[in-house]
Amino acid sequence: MLDTVSFFFNRAADHLGLDDRLRTILLTPKRSVRVEIVTESDDGEFHHHLGYRVQHNSARGPMKGGLRYHPSMDEDHASSLASLMTWKTAVVDIPYGGAKGGINCDPSKLSEAELYRITTTFVGLIKEVIGPTIDIPAPDVNTNAQVMGWIMDEYSKYYGFSPGVVTGKPVDLFGSLGRDEATGRGVMYVLQECLHESQRKLADVTIAIQGFGNVGSHAARLIAAQGGKIVAVSDVSGGIANDEGIDIPALLTWVKEEGVVQGFPGAVAIEGHEVLTYKAEVLIPAAMEEAITAANANNVQASIIVEAANGPLTAQAHDILVDKGVTVIPDILANAGGVTVSYFEWTQNIQQFKWEESRVVEELDKVMRKAYRAVAELARQDQLDMRTAAFVIAIKRVARASASRRSIAHLLPPSVLD
Ligand code: NAD
Repeated sequence: MLDTVSFFFNRAADHLGLDDRLRTILLTPKRSVRVEIVTESDDGEFHHHLGYRVQHNSARGPMKGGLRYHPSMDEDHASSLASLMTWKTAVVDIPYGGAKGGINCDPSKLSEAELYRITTTFVGLIKEVIGPTIDIPAPDVNTNAQVMGWIMDEYSKYYGFSPGVVTGKPVDLFGSLGRDEATGRGVMYVLQECLHESQRKLADVTIAIQGFGNVGSHAARLIAAQGGKIVAVSDVSGGIANDEGIDIPALLTWVKEEGVVQGFPGAVAIEGHEVLTYKAEVLIPAAMEEAITAANANNVQASIIVEAANGPLTAQAHDILVDKGVTVIPDILANAGGVTVSYFEWTQNIQQFKWEESRVVEELDKVMRKAYRAVAELARQDQLDMRTAAFVIAIKRVARASASRRSIAHLLPPSVLD
């Protein structure tokens, strides 16, 4: 995936005419930390895991990005996702840089007490390089509000009360109202803006969604409430479809009780992968990386793809689809609602002030729609696909901030300054 992020970065850098020295400065992580986490298991044995935190760029502010607990977590993965965060925070213009990290563990095989010990030991090992003005972790795959609460508590033991060290905390522990659904809400806003360009509304289109976790289920719920007709949904258990529109509130109740979409009585069963190529005008991949590759891109029937997941399209798949005339709203724009409300949580924490949920929703609406319009306008003006346009905007912001801090202004071409 690192190759994919760098590939798209370089395409935008070519458009801007950046020289190699500036590319190296903007692509190289500022700091990469690897720590050994040794903890005691419940049966008295020892657990050994590796923890990572890659801090990509801090030109525009403290670094920001999730913590992922997964057996496949490694430095390369953290580096690519950290780089993606730098460009994402810049596209939506929130005052952060990018970071990412995690632990190579499988939480499904650990008790809560074991997970707690691993998390707090990790905090002890990286505490000097994180903090409310340095690097602010957040939940990602297999981490949640509870894990963020443990991190805040452990960090505060060393440095005093520090709610701003992590975001995505429980609402009872200085978390923000509206954070849980923020990414799905942002996905809906960018889709509304995109449809608006052809004088359409959510109620005018059919939609397929891959993934029914945090992002997919909230996006489905909010879109359905606006009249959007969701005709196919999948999760790890498989897919379901109903051309008359799936009853999303009923599906949410089903998933709450059964855990998976499979078996939902209001739809027919299909293979999970069929959701990606289902006959629907809009496709929202909201599950995992590289779901659409050169192998299945030509079978995609949607004319709009909203990348709710990080990196759901390979570079080849992206180009096949764009060449076919498909509008791809890229991840660094489409799923930025989560980090945007994380920013709102952090501002509430450092101001010791709590926002009403209506204010969170209103501010998120403004940020997402403004970012979408800027990307769409540049894409039209410079005849770029939306991903390249989003990277161009992000690179310009990060390069200008870097030049204002360091003596590298002579490396910036006029295209970055206008
Ligand atoms: P999650 O763990 O809550 O949900 C993931 C969903 O994907 C689950 O429904 C799971 O069953 C499904 N899934 C897994 N493998 C699948 C497969 N092969 N086919 C179909 N479905 C499959 O995760 P999430 O928080 O919803 O994150 C989803 C994606 O969005 C990830 O790429 C994540 O990095 C990205 N993202 C999340 C946030 C956030 O705020 N949660 C923010 C930005 C980006």
